[in-house]
Amino acid sequence: MAKSFENEHPIKAFGWATRDTSGVLSPFNFSRRVTGEKDVQFKVMYCGICHSDLHQLKNEWGNSKYPMVPGHEVVGVVTEVGSKVEKFKVGDKVGVGCMVGSCRKCENCSVDLENYCPRQIPTYNGYSLDGTLTFGGYSDVMVSDEHFVVRWPENLSMDAAPLLCAGITTYSPLKYFGLDKPGMHIGVVGLGGLGHMAVKFAKAFGTKVTVISTSANKKKEAIERLGADSFLISRDPEQMKAAMNTLDGIIDTVSVVHPILPLLMLMKSHGKLVMVGAPEKPVELPVFPLLMGRKLVAGSCIGGMKETQEMLDFAAKHNITPDIEVVPMEYVNTALERLLKSDVKYRFVLDIGNTLNKK
Ligand SMILES: [Zn+2]
Ligand SMILES: [Zn+2]
Repeated sequence: MAKSFENEHPIKAFGWATRDTSGVLSPFNFSRRVTGEKDVQFKVMYCGICHSDLHQLKNEWGNSKYPMVPGHEVVGVVTEVGSKVEKFKVGDKVGVGCMVGSCRKCENCSVDLENYCPRQIPTYNGYSLDGTLTFGGYSDVMVSDEHFVVRWPENLSMDAAPLLCAGITTYSPLKYFGLDKPGMHIGVVGLGGLGHMAVKFAKAFGTKVTVISTSANKKKEAIERLGADSFLISRDPEQMKAAMNTLDGIIDTVSVVHPILPLLMLMKSHGKLVMVGAPEKPVELPVFPLLMGRKLVAGSCIGGMKETQEMLDFAAKHNITPDIEVVPMEYVNTALERLLKSDVKYRFVLDIGNTLNKK
């Protein structure tokens, strides 16, 4: 039999894939590798739709491989474990985020920062060690090395899957850059999938939170529903001027090119502006204001496996979950169109367990 996606591995799998840059998804039969001795096999229950799925489906980052089964906010229940698996047993609730492999021996891997490993294997649109394409969580079953599987806390709702990307992406920089100290004043730029999680974590750390947005549309929402302390309209020069030198740090979640100078001006001396969105073109960085306050501009990308587990446990303890709209698998293409228009509060989650039916 010729090798095809359906029979290159022994475990039958079914999901939704796009075959080309149209980005349109449709049912897809494929296969997963056999559960190796360190592997966990699990039935997918929920998978979040991340904004980066949208970019990769349409090859907007120029590295897309087809067919593509997206999904890197995956939560499920263990159905089989390999003989040397130590952390999990059948029936455990588990999660898989943005990566399913790394070299495990480089400088980053040796200090639990697999997310910065140059040989990181992405959960989809990457290559496994055996050279086959990785397929993500818009599918019924996954097989992953237990090192890249996290334990899903008992009291955390399984549809809170976006914690695995949007959650860790905002939790990690708040911790690493020391923006998690009670009494600090933190700015969050942009109120989407990432931004709303940044607000929730920053509040749970005991900081004062100001949401910074281009329009007043989300003010009520930010303050009343998400618990932000104040709201700044970045296009209002008076408001921005009045808020100068007030912030200890900013988490900037905006993924289109936008002015950086006004954000630098909002920060006190030693303020840290951390970018977690990914504008496709360079942003203009005025250096003088950095010098004058010894300010820092930095970036951050998801988190390591140890920290991802820590974030989940923290979220469970403090009852932090993403605001989601749970949708059936057949709705995925509509959900992607709506996501493109930012028509969701704040993340779509696919109900894979109940609605992914093999036709
Ligand atoms: Zn993501
Ligand atoms: Zn490594």
